[in-house]
Amino acid sequence: MTEVLTGPANVTQERRLVTEVPGPRSRELLARRTAAVASGVGLTLPVFIERAGGGVVVDVDGNSLIDLGSGIAVVNVGNAAPRVVQAVQEQVAAFTHTCFMVTPYESYVAVCEELARVTPGDHPKKSALFNSGAEAVENAVKIARHATGRQAIVVFDHAYHGRTNLTMALTAKNMPYKQGFGPFAPEVHRVPMSYPYRDEPGLTGPQAAARAIAQIEAQVGAGNVAAVLIEPIQGEGGFVVPAPGFLPAIADWCRHTGAVFVADEIQTGFCRTGDWFASEAEGVVPDLITTAKGIAGGLPLSAVTGRAELMDAVHGGGLGGTYGGNPVACAAALASIATMREDDLPAAARRIGDTMLTRLRALQQRTDVVGDVRGRGAMIAVELVRPGTDEPDAELTGRIARACHARGVIVLTAGTHGNVLRFLPPLVIGPDLLAEALDVLDEAFAQEAGAR
Ligand SMILES: *Cc1c(COP(=O)(O)O)cnc(C)c1O
Repeated sequence: MTEVLTGPANVTQERRLVTEVPGPRSRELLARRTAAVASGVGLTLPVFIERAGGGVVVDVDGNSLIDLGSGIAVVNVGNAAPRVVQAVQEQVAAFTHTCFMVTPYESYVAVCEELARVTPGDHPKKSALFNSGAEAVENAVKIARHATGRQAIVVFDHAYHGRTNLTMALTAKNMPYKQGFGPFAPEVHRVPMSYPYRDEPGLTGPQAAARAIAQIEAQVGAGNVAAVLIEPIQGEGGFVVPAPGFLPAIADWCRHTGAVFVADEIQTGFCRTGDWFASEAEGVVPDLITTAKGIAGGLPLSAVTGRAELMDAVHGGGLGGTYGGNPVACAAALASIATMREDDLPAAARRIGDTMLTRLRALQQRTDVVGDVRGRGAMIAVELVRPGTDEPDAELTGRIARACHARGVIVLTAGTHGNVLRFLPPLVIGPDLLAEALDVLDEAFAQEAGAR
């Protein structure tokens, strides 16, 4: 019974190339895309997808590719995961939308109850649901400002929080996210992150926190800070894992000064890092937590979850949106969360992490272009540099990514300097498929960087 429900829907778990990548059908569709779709919408790999499941996506030419991206950390439970498909089909046939603020329905409430259970801390919690990650971050800022009566928001170097006007201001990287899109929202203050590979050697987590805090106190003023917003492991910034002690020290400072500590777990959440949430690894309990990506198996849904007294500080009608907590997305979220719990996906993420770290550290020994191997659970990255230096090599990173794509493995890049290869496999990927993807990565490094 469980076997049937957890199996990938109708997709053979294999890498199989029957044309070059992209094939002729994808190239036809690409021409239509180029003619009809705004060129500002980015593109990693121009293969058009017909179906997907488990650790595989199948394109319109019949090529099966191994998925090490999960649509950017979204399909943690697998693509078209059977329980999600069933829940969505039942809900979409029952009703598609009422607007929760007009006439409510149970699944929205049930998602908020689940969020209270699975997020860190056992204090009373409440949630509000939205559509995208950026929208959740915007609402966390609204709540923190309203609850504290303060305005300043502190964010970190290399941070990524979205592409709307406020979240562009919160995001660090200019190209492609901010260039030409200003002016940006005011009262956003950026401080140094803990970045062990690039910090001065030996700088501890508490020391890196003290560096950031000194800057906040000098340049913003402790009493003006509404919220400190941080990704516990940075996503688009290049899977930067802060040194141990950094996050707890920042959270402590917030508690002492009355600032709201907001963990943006949009990329790290829902079992990705081997825990339900990345904050747990150091026992950090955020005041507010933003979630999206992995929450609903591919349907658009996001949330702000946090201390009930903070969440309830906002006047009635101050939070919401037409589609926030759409019933189809809520049904998908409940099925995804049930899958994560029943199939113990945190353990699956830890197994993936062990395999990947072992293989990638071995690769690091065979080449001089891998400066750093890092990450946690199924959120693992390598940072590429010019041999013998720590200078970022974005050009090589792009070539290796393209070599993987041509061989039928989807990998993504990241990093402020574009020199990080990041791996986010679906947590249901089989061990053989994962090993094969890592073989392909070895081949790509051998071809492009002369790895032995
Ligand atoms: C993806 C992401 C966002 C933005 O989410 P969208 O759904 O794309 O708006 C915000 N924060 C983090 C950490 C993310 O990874």
